[in-house]
Amino acid sequence: MTDKHGRKIEYMRVSITDRCDLRCKYCMPEGIEKVSMSKILTYEDLIRICRVSADLGISRIKITGGEPFVRLGCCDLIRSIKAIDGIEQVTVTTNGQTLERYIDELKDIGIDGINISLDTLDPEKFRYITGRGELEKTLRSIKLSAESGIKTKINTVPQRGFNDDEITDIAELAFRYGIDVRFIELMPVGAADAGTGLSNVEILETLRKKWSDLEADGSVHGNGPAVYYKRAGVKGGIGFISAMHGKFCAYCNRVRLTSQGQLKPCLYYDTVTDLIPFLKRSDYELRKAIREAIMNKPEAHCFSETGKKGADNAEHRLMSQIGG
Ligand code: SAM
Ligand code: SF4
Repeated sequence: MTDKHGRKIEYMRVSITDRCDLRCKYCMPEGIEKVSMSKILTYEDLIRICRVSADLGISRIKITGGEPFVRLGCCDLIRSIKAIDGIEQVTVTTNGQTLERYIDELKDIGIDGINISLDTLDPEKFRYITGRGELEKTLRSIKLSAESGIKTKINTVPQRGFNDDEITDIAELAFRYGIDVRFIELMPVGAADAGTGLSNVEILETLRKKWSDLEADGSVHGNGPAVYYKRAGVKGGIGFISAMHGKFCAYCNRVRLTSQGQLKPCLYYDTVTDLIPFLKRSDYELRKAIREAIMNKPEAHCFSETGKKGADNAEHRLMSQIGG
């Protein structure tokens, strides 16, 4: 459907859990209280919301979290959402710690894409930034996913003083496996200190020193605002999601569903529509609530380039609670 600012909204990011097996410093630092499972939407409710949203023109779903694969039955959920009339694409975002167990099943389901987060290639730095993760597991998942033929993307958040010396090494994975590596500017949401984020302009400059043949790639690679670069005759692409320095709100096509049933029209604002009361009512009433939430999507976020939050109702929750 089209919102009141004329944008076609067709993409929903669905967080299926607040929980995670990692504790990335900028997303879900140590000491976060677990949300009780009774407050988390059941798979039945999640599927119903996706079905009703599909009636309104939502055709692409991203399963996210928290870490989606810590919730039992995640693959069954993906299979059910894939089967909904009107849903054309289901993709998943993961930290890759347990993904290798599910690759065959995901391939069988016909998953449309897997995004795997990776901020460093150094095992100690990996453990530091994720609180407890093992680099090898994520690297194995990336290899398996890429080799399985599933459309695979790596998501990297560049951070000054942490991984700024590894940008080309991480980008090189794109050309090694013929996949996309995307650099996502750190956003001032939750635990993140956006002051430590690097701009994608800096990243592109760094990459061009190594690959002077990098050229803009106009083709569409995914659901969102990433701008891509490629090298002539080489498989694999480099994407940039410039959340801070390249405001793309005018083209925003997405809404988010939190694992606790709140529909969030803009990542930046804490304004939400609580769908829980509507889950007790008819599909008609649920659809009406979703339609109104989408219609009233804010025109633009307002984090400034310095990372300062610019509104009283700016988001205060952690990224792991919103769904990334
Ligand atoms: N656990 C999964 C994962 O790590 O891919 C899915 C959820 S995670 C919240 C989704 C993505 O959000 C990850 O790539 C993570 O790096 C990114 N992210 C988390 N906090 C962020 C922030 N403040 N700014 C930019 N990206 C962020
Ligand atoms: Fe977990 Fe993903 Fe957040 Fe890291 S970025 S804490 S893996 S939800």
